Amino acid sequence: MKITILTICPEQFNDFLNTPLISRNSEKGLLEIEICDIRDYAPGSFRKVDDSPYGGGAGMIMRCQPVLDALADKRTADSYVIVLSPQGRRYDQKEAHRLSQMKHLIFICGHYEGMDARIYDHVDELISIGDYILCGGEMPAMIITESVMRLVDGSMKKESVLEESFEEDLLEYPQYTRPADYKGQKVPEVLLSGDHEAIRKWRHEEAVKLTEKMRPDLLEKKRRKNVQTVKQNKTGAQ
Ligand code: SAM
Repeated sequence: MKITILTICPEQFNDFLNTPLISRNSEKGLLEIEICDIRDYAPGSFRKVDDSPYGGGAGMIMRCQPVLDALADKRTADSYVIVLSPQGRRYDQKEAHRLSQMKHLIFICGHYEGMDARIYDHVDELISIGDYILCGGEMPAMIITESVMRLVDGSMKKESVLEESFEEDLLEYPQYTRPADYKGQKVPEVLLSGDHEAIRKWRHEEAVKLTEKMRPDLLEKKRRKNVQTVKQNKTGAQ
């Protein structure tokens, strides 16, 4: 998979590119990340990428020309283009799975008060990482890149990904490591028993309990999906 990130702050990605998951996957040939400085496409020695908004108002707006010229330069027939924006579709693990199937993702990071709305006509979709406002799209681009990268075939052990929070609409069960007794806080007996079936059952029950407590909305979603599947099966059988 290739990921191209269009940004006016390329230096923000320096440490990110050296994080273990990203550099290991690049070395394995699973990932190519390209950071593209939008200012390289802005004319003049000031390399100006922003201007004031028509109609007045606070702040500056990213101009069409440098962004769309950078996009035209990097886009290929395989590209899927995403603008990071608080106005976009809310990102979650299901979206991460969907994006992990793409050959080439291009992320456009906004800044200032946002970008000229005409840019949106040239992209596939807008994605938000949550209902809050950041200064730029760089952190959202890193968050999506990392979550997608973990799902790409060959990146992580399959079983480790499948048991994680949000898969199957459940949070992950509690995990423990040595020592078995830490200042009187004991690891649940069942995990020391060596009984794989009992461990599997305990983990599932704990995952349900934790989800009930922390994210009841996920269990409701799971219940609705199950009802829908039963209905579909009944219609199919008729
Ligand atoms: N004025 C815009 C609004 O009210 O929707 C917010 C602009 S924000 C200060 C600047 C840039 O940060 C956005 O263009 C976007 O690229 C990025 N950004 C901020 N919050 C984000 C979020 N929750 N998800 C994705 N991108 C975000």
